[in-house]
Amino acid sequence: MKNFLCPVCNSNVIETQYFNNVYKDNNYYCESCNSYHVFKKIDDSAYYKENYHEKFNYKLSSFKYKLISLLPFIAYRSTSRLVYLKSKLKKIKFKNILEIGAGAGEHFIVFNNYFKLEKYIMVEPGVVIGFKNEKLKVIDSVFEATDISDYKDVELIMMFHVLEHIFDLDDFFEKIKKTGAKYFYFEVPNIANEQCKNLSLLDHPTIIISL
Ligand SMILES: [Zn+2]
Repeated sequence: MKNFLCPVCNSNVIETQYFNNVYKDNNYYCESCNSYHVFKKIDDSAYYKENYHEKFNYKLSSFKYKLISLLPFIAYRSTSRLVYLKSKLKKIKFKNILEIGAGAGEHFIVFNNYFKLEKYIMVEPGVVIGFKNEKLKVIDSVFEATDISDYKDVELIMMFHVLEHIFDLDDFFEKIKKTGAKYFYFEVPNIANEQCKNLSLLDHPTIIISL
């Protein structure tokens, strides 16, 4: 067995029998930081552009868009994420937000209602947004392949259930640093839930349980 090192803490990892269906390799476990990783890199861009989206409905009609604008609590996940963020911010207001990986636009609607944004950039391969808004810029790509100049005014970067899909964490965070953003809001699946952990190990390249 090749001696892989944990990409989070550089410790030795041990091979497990959790087989990852996308990367076609077993997961490796790091005892030191309680994380799982796959090490066989594949070109996963087609998977994320096509297959991955089969699980989700990204289409948000202009009717639903208007409804959420008027009654944000309908988008309860986005609303609860905003409530959590506000509890940490001590009244800081943002004008420019970047969301890497994105839903149907509910986060934009809910966060824009509160912050009165100037710009909201969504980066997501294969996403289709069913409404238009002059503040919203949608980039149909993975973040790693995008041009850093698009992000020069970004103050806050948000990712909800995205980090665990990143194969090359070092490259990813180098690019994140280059944006110059000062605030980060990253949410990952609750891996304390055994079922959630087991499902995640089947198709995510990185699972971090605790640091
Ligand atoms: Zn580790």
